[in-house]
Amino acid sequence: MGAHSAGCACREGELNEVSALAPESLGPTVTVGEILVEIMATTIGAGFLEPQPLVGPFPSGAPAIFIDQVARIGGAAGIVAAVGDDDFGMLNVERLRGDGVDVSAIATIPGKPTGSAFVRYRQDGARDFVFNIAHSAAGETRMTPAARDLIGRAGHVHVMGSAFAIPGIAAIFIEAVATVKARGGSVSFDPNIRKELVQGGEGRKLIDDMLEVTDLLLPSGDELLVAADAASEAAAVERLLNLGIGEIVLKRGSDGSSHFSKAFGRVDCAAFTVQEIDPTGAGDCFGAAYLTSRRGGLPPADALLYANAAGARTVTKQGPMEGVSSKAELDQFIAAEGREVTA
Ligand code: ATP
Ligand code: MG
Repeated sequence: MGAHSAGCACREGELNEVSALAPESLGPTVTVGEILVEIMATTIGAGFLEPQPLVGPFPSGAPAIFIDQVARIGGAAGIVAAVGDDDFGMLNVERLRGDGVDVSAIATIPGKPTGSAFVRYRQDGARDFVFNIAHSAAGETRMTPAARDLIGRAGHVHVMGSAFAIPGIAAIFIEAVATVKARGGSVSFDPNIRKELVQGGEGRKLIDDMLEVTDLLLPSGDELLVAADAASEAAAVERLLNLGIGEIVLKRGSDGSSHFSKAFGRVDCAAFTVQEIDPTGAGDCFGAAYLTSRRGGLPPADALLYANAAGARTVTKQGPMEGVSSKAELDQFIAAEGREVTA
C-alpha cells in the first residue's frame, strides 16, 4: 500500500480541484471499533471512590459517535463492531439503526457484556475514566463474513485511534484499507494518540503505517506534532503533506479548526461561540461532518464550517451521542449564527 490518492491518479502539483477523498457514489463510509455505553457522575469530583449519583447509560464509543454523525448528516455509513446480548448493546444498535447506520456488521457476542465507560469530571475539567473495553464484547471485534461484505461495498474507511484498545484490531484495519483502496476508495485517520501508546516502538510503527495510507488526517492539539514527530505546526504540516497525505484538518477546540493541503493551501475557520456542557464527542462529530461534506463535493471552507457547527452543537449537550446533528439542524444553526455556506 502507499497510494494516497483516491479516484485520481494525479499527485503533487496537479492536485487542483481533485479531491483525495472518494465521492459518496463509490460506497458508504465504514469504520471499525468500540461500541460502549457511557455512564457519568452528575457531580464534579476526584474519581469513583465513593457512592455517587450517576446518569446514563448513553450510547457511546468514538467510532460509533463518528459513524452516527456521518449518517445523520446524510452520508451512507456502516460500522464493524461487537456488542453483548444485553440492554446496553440493544440501546446502541437501535440508536445507530434509527439514525440510518448499516448495522449488519455489528456482531452480538454471547457471554460477554457490552463495553462501558464510567466518567467523572474533575474541577479543572480533566476526566477520570473506568473503562471496560478489551474484556467486553467490543474486545471480540473480528473480521466476520458480514464485516467483509460491508467493507467490500465501502468507498471510504475511517480509522479511529481509540479503537486500537481492541486486541487484534490492526489486522482488521489493514485488510479494510487494502480492500477499499483497491476499489479506488480513501482513508481518514483520527489518531486519538495517547502518550502511552506512542512511547513503545510498536505504537510509533502503528501510527507510521497508518500515515502511509491516510488521505485525510484529523489530529487535535499536539497530536499533529506527535504524528509528524516535528517541533512546530508548520513543520509538521509540511512533513505530512510531503508524505502524500491529501488533507490535514487540525481541530483546535474552542479556537476552531484549520485545513491544510497542497491543492487549497491553508484554510482557517473560526469556532462558533457556545456554552460547553460536555466536550465528549466533539472531535468525532467534527470529523464525520468534515469528511461527509468533502465526500459530498463541498470545498474545504464549507466542510470546515459544517464540521465546526457539528462540534459546537455536540458540546452543548450532555451525553456523547446526544449532540449529533442532521444536515437541516446544522444549516439552521449556521444561519442563526450569521454565518454562510459559500458553495
Ligand atoms: P474530543 O474531546 O471529542 O476528543 P477533539 O479533541 O478531537 O475532541 P476538539 O478540538 O476538542 O476535538 O473539538 C472538535 C471541534 O469541535 C473543534 O475544532 C471546534 O470546531 C468544535 N468545538 C469543540 N469545543 C468547542 C467549544 N467549546 N466551543 C465551540 N466549538 C467547539
Ligand atoms: Mg477536545
